[in-house]
Amino acid sequence: MAITERMTKTTTPTYWEGEIPVRYVYTYGLAGEKFFRAIMEKGTFLATRCDACDVTFLPPKIYCDRCFEELNTFVDVGTLGHVDTFTVSFKNMDGSDKVRPRILAMVRIDGTDGGIIHYLEGISIEDVALGLPVKAIFKPKAQRKGGIEDIIGFGPAE
Ligand SMILES: [Zn+2]
Repeated sequence: MAITERMTKTTTPTYWEGEIPVRYVYTYGLAGEKFFRAIMEKGTFLATRCDACDVTFLPPKIYCDRCFEELNTFVDVGTLGHVDTFTVSFKNMDGSDKVRPRILAMVRIDGTDGGIIHYLEGISIEDVALGLPVKAIFKPKAQRKGGIEDIIGFGPAE
């Protein structure tokens, strides 16, 4: 459909092919920067805690979304967690079959009320289960760049 054509039926989906150049800078924010810096430099996760609401946020937040209290204290919560839910991916983004299926899981980090969605590594489809204890696997320190890709995935907890 050309942009000058008149639409006569508004319930029919329409689209225009093309590109819109968009430039942006994504920032992690105060809490996100501390979170990713802890991963990069120490290989651990930081969370923030609201004692009034008894909630530990991971990823950390600088304000409690329940009572709006400012949260200034970051706590090291380690790298252990449990599989909260998971799915198995058999296809690549282009629809082709994966060489090996991959398990994507929501991992609840122990001692927090939050978690991280990431791949499970070294865990077979037959062995994955809700509640399975897992541990974060990070890239070697020299290869970390301060982003989510510093985390390779989660593997079996020792
Ligand atoms: Zn609160």
